[in-house]
Amino acid sequence: MSERIYNLSAGPAVLPEEVIRKTQEAIWNLNGSGIGVMEHSHRDKPFMAVIEKAEALCRELAGIPADHHVMFVQGGASTQFFMVPMNLLGPDATADYLMTGAWSQKAVAEAKRFGKVHVVASSEDENFSYIPSPDTFKWSAKPVYAHFTSNNTIFGTQWSTDPVPPDGVPLICDASSDIFSRPIDVEKYGLIYAGAQKNLGPSGVTLVIMRKDLVERASSSLPTMLQYRTHAKEKSLYNTPPTFAIYVLAEVLDWIKQNGGLAAMEERNRAKAGVIYDYLDRSSLFRATARAGSRSNMNITFRARTPELDDKFIAESKKRGFSGLKGHRSVGGMRASVYNAFPRAGCEALATFMAEFEKANG
Ligand SMILES: *Cc1c(COP(=O)(O)O)cnc(C)c1O
Repeated sequence: MSERIYNLSAGPAVLPEEVIRKTQEAIWNLNGSGIGVMEHSHRDKPFMAVIEKAEALCRELAGIPADHHVMFVQGGASTQFFMVPMNLLGPDATADYLMTGAWSQKAVAEAKRFGKVHVVASSEDENFSYIPSPDTFKWSAKPVYAHFTSNNTIFGTQWSTDPVPPDGVPLICDASSDIFSRPIDVEKYGLIYAGAQKNLGPSGVTLVIMRKDLVERASSSLPTMLQYRTHAKEKSLYNTPPTFAIYVLAEVLDWIKQNGGLAAMEERNRAKAGVIYDYLDRSSLFRATARAGSRSNMNITFRARTPELDDKFIAESKKRGFSGLKGHRSVGGMRASVYNAFPRAGCEALATFMAEFEKANG
């Protein structure tokens, strides 16, 4: 197949076409250096320029203040599930977690290896189909940090306003599936982490934005690679970083900038998701599974009237050039992941296809 199709995968996910094309060139010859991006030493000037560009664009796009480090680490968001408590949670201390889906559950399970965990609120009672309301929150007496998942990739829910922890408690966010899809007030956070493979680039690199005083607070008896201190001090070059992934990430950030930055991304993403939600709300065959008010602009989860029709829809969608629509097994149905790089035309094409399917099967 020579043509590309609509990729609605939850991650790794679609990348901007301009970035793919520029990367093809850089694989052969990075910025006229005569050496491809994957073949450069991470200590060579051409790669140093790449990692500096990546950090500078992160800072510029998100307005990251000087009292926060920007780090590029490995091991995915799943490594952050344990690195956070390993660095910040002592055995007698308590960390507060907001439980809004499978990824929050995994983060909690890892934190329990290092200290006490208190669940502030949970939406598990209704299969994580909503974001709990602040008036149900029960914070513990003295949490060392508060952790939440800003977008629940599997269940299709997203926090529209961040939880506000008690005074002085650092807020920690797993933003893997909505990082840089909307403006973010970094000042409010102690730590933000995100695997790159949904909104920022290929898999293999994880962005960590961390307040400097928290980096210093962490234990210094951990293995070197597992201390945030190491990556902060060495500017992500303590060992060989994932150079190719960082190159693509920098180009994706450049693309976000060329396309108007985070505020423009938010507007575009809201309009894109709106095309599909509007159709779902009018449909008598399909329905959105996330509660109104909690719906994600990144991952749109929905079902047809019966599981048989779900299967039929997914099978036909493949023939029509849509890939990755099958929902996660814990939710069933369908999931359309429409991250930053997914085009509006793809959302419109999907809504049109759904209408045709409804006409034929309604
Ligand atoms: C995909 C995802 C993860 C897991 O990321 P890995 O990089 O595969 O470890 C964690 N949290 C959220 C919210 C995700 O969407």
